[in-house]
Amino acid sequence: MKRRLINPDSKKLLDDLQKLISINSVNPDLDQDGPGEREIAIFIKDLVSKIGFEITLQDLGDNRINLTALLKGTGGGRTLMLNGHMDTVDTRGMTIDPFDPVFIDGKVYGRGSLDMKAGIAAILSASRAIVNSGTKLKGDLLLTFVADEEYKSIGTEAAAETCHADGAIICEPTDMKLVLAHKGFTWERIVFHGKAAHGSRPDEGVDAITHSGIFLAALDDFQRKVLAERKHPLLGSPSVHASLIAGGIGISTYPDSCILEFERRTIPGETPEGVKEEIESILLELGRKYPDFMADHEQYFVRNPLEIDEGDRLVKCLGGSWENVMGFPAEVGGFSGWADSAILNDKGIPAVNFGPAGKGLHAAEEYVEFQSVIDCTKVLADTIITYCS
Ligand SMILES: [Zn+2]
Repeated sequence: MKRRLINPDSKKLLDDLQKLISINSVNPDLDQDGPGEREIAIFIKDLVSKIGFEITLQDLGDNRINLTALLKGTGGGRTLMLNGHMDTVDTRGMTIDPFDPVFIDGKVYGRGSLDMKAGIAAILSASRAIVNSGTKLKGDLLLTFVADEEYKSIGTEAAAETCHADGAIICEPTDMKLVLAHKGFTWERIVFHGKAAHGSRPDEGVDAITHSGIFLAALDDFQRKVLAERKHPLLGSPSVHASLIAGGIGISTYPDSCILEFERRTIPGETPEGVKEEIESILLELGRKYPDFMADHEQYFVRNPLEIDEGDRLVKCLGGSWENVMGFPAEVGGFSGWADSAILNDKGIPAVNFGPAGKGLHAAEEYVEFQSVIDCTKVLADTIITYCS
């Protein structure tokens, strides 16, 4: 039997969304003029207080802030977290007014419209519709509006330390798909050690830059022969690419060092330790082949991939609600990029990404399709009821 749907107030939803876009919340680590999350957090705080949530503001230092809102259940149900990041990327190169959200042909334009103020508006609207309908939830509904997803994710990291939930939905823009997996990444640095000498003295010099080139050729070979063969059903193959390189002293001098940084994108099943071992075995092999080859390797940043079982209760509830609202089964997918969901999942909170559709995230012209925000809100409201009961 089809459950009765909770219908959101779409006029208020549009109004909230436009107000959220009009508040500049550019991440200050991406643009020094970016104001961060404080003003938008205060705006959201007023809205969730009116709905009836208990509010906690979490100070993350440097004027960065998280907002957590709790709607206590009557007891005996599961706790659901709905998560949204309040920061946006910067506005450089935008061809539309980033903070004057216009609504044309069913689309709402502006920086953060899609990524992810529409998701935040949907979370607020679904929560309000549930309370207004008089529905009593057994489990708690926990909203986490976080800082800094677009840079180092200090917001969700802090929320994961203090909040507990049985499952989480991150309302990033997924084109209405249920995103159950995404790639992770590691950042790697290698210092190649050479020996400075006059350019005319190959017998004395060791060319660190050429050694880095030899390594890059071997890494490229590894990508083609090994990484391309590894495949995840939703994510495809892992990859590696060179990112930064520096070295050299002068045109007539053998370079005494070369620093190479590169990024390795990982799929579920790959670990940071495994990635490290693979890189080091390439270096060892080159050390055997070239007697003066010397390098130090360091893996200096890691973000894990995400994979949620399709049989997880949250996935089943969300998929059931999707079908209840839309009338046909949801599409399941994966993100090539990384998202905050992996942080929650690593903390034992299974996290699914699900959010509205649109185009131009991080781009010159960003918009969200408003009908998808309404649909997303309905799906969220129905999921809250089924999951928290
Ligand atoms: Zn985002």
